Amino acid sequence: MIEHDVIIIGGGLAGSRAAVAIAQQYPDLSLGMISKVHPIRSHSVAAQGGIAAALGNLDPSDNWLAHAFDTVKGSDYLADQNAVEILTKSAPEVIIDLEHLGVLFSRSEHGKIAQRPFGGHSYDRVCYAADKTGHAILHELISLMLHYRTKIYQEWYAMELIYEAGEVKGIVALQIETGEIEVMRAKAILFATGGYGRVFNTTSNDFASTGDGLCLAAIAGFPLQDMEFVQFHPTGLYPVGVLISEAVRGEGAYLINNHGDRFMANYPISQNKMELSPRDITSRNIAQEIREGRGINGGAFVHLDVRHLGREKIIEKIPFAREEGMRMLGIDCVDQPLPVRPTVHYSMGGIPTNTDCQVIDQHSQPITGFFAAGECACVSVHGANRLGANSLLECVVFGKRSGEKVAEYVQTRALPSLDAEKYTQRAKQRIQSLFNSQGKTRLVTLRTELQDLMTDHCSIFRDRPSLESGLAKVQILKQRYQQDLHLDDHGSIYNMELINALELRSLLLVGEIILASALARAESRGAHSRSDFPQRNDSEYLKHSLGFLSQDNQVKTGFRAVDMSLIEVDRDRFTPQTRVY
Ligand SMILES: Cc1cc2nc3c(=O)[nH]c(=O)nc-3n(C[C@H](O)[C@H](O)[C@H](O)COP(=O)(O)OP(=O)(O)OC[C@H]3O[C@@H](n4cnc5c(N)ncnc54)[C@H](O)[C@@H]3O)c2cc1C
Repeated sequence: MIEHDVIIIGGGLAGSRAAVAIAQQYPDLSLGMISKVHPIRSHSVAAQGGIAAALGNLDPSDNWLAHAFDTVKGSDYLADQNAVEILTKSAPEVIIDLEHLGVLFSRSEHGKIAQRPFGGHSYDRVCYAADKTGHAILHELISLMLHYRTKIYQEWYAMELIYEAGEVKGIVALQIETGEIEVMRAKAILFATGGYGRVFNTTSNDFASTGDGLCLAAIAGFPLQDMEFVQFHPTGLYPVGVLISEAVRGEGAYLINNHGDRFMANYPISQNKMELSPRDITSRNIAQEIREGRGINGGAFVHLDVRHLGREKIIEKIPFAREEGMRMLGIDCVDQPLPVRPTVHYSMGGIPTNTDCQVIDQHSQPITGFFAAGECACVSVHGANRLGANSLLECVVFGKRSGEKVAEYVQTRALPSLDAEKYTQRAKQRIQSLFNSQGKTRLVTLRTELQDLMTDHCSIFRDRPSLESGLAKVQILKQRYQQDLHLDDHGSIYNMELINALELRSLLLVGEIILASALARAESRGAHSRSDFPQRNDSEYLKHSLGFLSQDNQVKTGFRAVDMSLIEVDRDRFTPQTRVY
């Protein structure tokens, strides 16, 4: 059995920031990190437009409370305000800290860190490295992990979270290269396993974003919070769905419909901020234009036009967006507008934690030995809708904080005892039963059916009948997964079909919890638009939803309170109001 004081699952921005914090501040701790892809290939590397912080480099009047207000308003008042306070107060410090660690941010002409506007932020506060910000940050953090000789188990797949007798004790992992099963125990486990975009058929997320951490936590019996809030990014390149960064609108791009109108002006909610309205509103407006036949040539996309910015600015500020258009569609945005439509992008919900990154149960009690940070976690700084550039910030602030908190936590904790053989045999049996299945359904067929189902039944607009029938269809897919799957590859070395089959279980369970949570919230808030309940209903639903697997293997839902503590600081602004931009 492999043993460490702390094991981090996930080598993206949150996991690697936690690892660097532990290595720097607690060098005597034994730390292991496992990642199903090489950490440098974690999805964070694809982050583009930037990271928000009230540095005030362009406008000295920007400050943490303004950033906090924008975040809470953007969240449609569902974010936990105590967590938002930590996020926004820490932001300037973590940016300077990143710079000291070696991250090369773009500069203004005065030599300061440059800052650009982003949707829903009332100041130009987004720091960036052109439109390759995730790449710039993750490369530095991983270089530092190598410098500190962090033990990295790369291309290891976490299959099970070991939770017994009220404690999280370890993890069961599959070495992808050899097919060996390893049981790993630790004084604490930190999940930083990222999002689940692959539950849907059109997404900006990479192939590894399959919600495994969420699934393992739910199977262990823990709730997932606010899962109905799926962020659709307004500008996925049509038809592929890859991201055209919000930085493009930050630099001044227009959204245009088939009549040549900048249609954001036609919606009262977005008349002032136009293309720089938050993502929930912008995506909904685009979906509405398409539904009402004003997509380009009546099709399922609108245009993102940057031609007026000029070649020089495009090449200097948004080179990656230009490359994407040319590489994917052969369109150079210097000369032609890009076809775009909303694409699944980000998970506002996740594994609930307190502000010390400890995972909490449905009664808000911390679970022994279990921490989470980054996109898989829901410390709830985004509520019902995340503002652009706040996710990298969350990963860095709460990644660092989770590293510090978990390191303090294990100082007084012994290694838990567990029966490694029992878990090894159970994992082997699970794999064998997948191999033994003599069914007719190919993995890719089942996965595509799920992704299409989720897109048809739980897209930008939802209602009770479509959610209920989506849930019923997921039950059938779950049965087929258990009884009718057929895998061709029964080998042990780099068996990616097996990994995909394990990931499909994650997609199915996460999809089911998203549908059930969306059904439970009978109102419209942020990214969750119920056609049958078009208004926000604070008296009943200013609450976090919880979705969990009950003993009978059915998904059940519940709710818990939102932290509103910033009302004490500024009642005028932090009391829920109608959102207009
Ligand atoms: C195209 C794109 C652009 C973006 N641009 C921005 C931006 O400009 N600004 C911003 O704030 N946000 C942006 N985001 C969002 C942001 O990039 C992500 O939310 C953030 O990077 C997530 O980081 P993470 O560390 O939580 O997870 P990830 O980077 O997704 O890392 C997850 C890690 O978990 C590991 N893992 C998962 N499951 C398992 C398993 N079963 N076993 C072992 N390991 C596992 C993976 O190998 C990986 O190392 C963007 C997102 C996309 C899709």
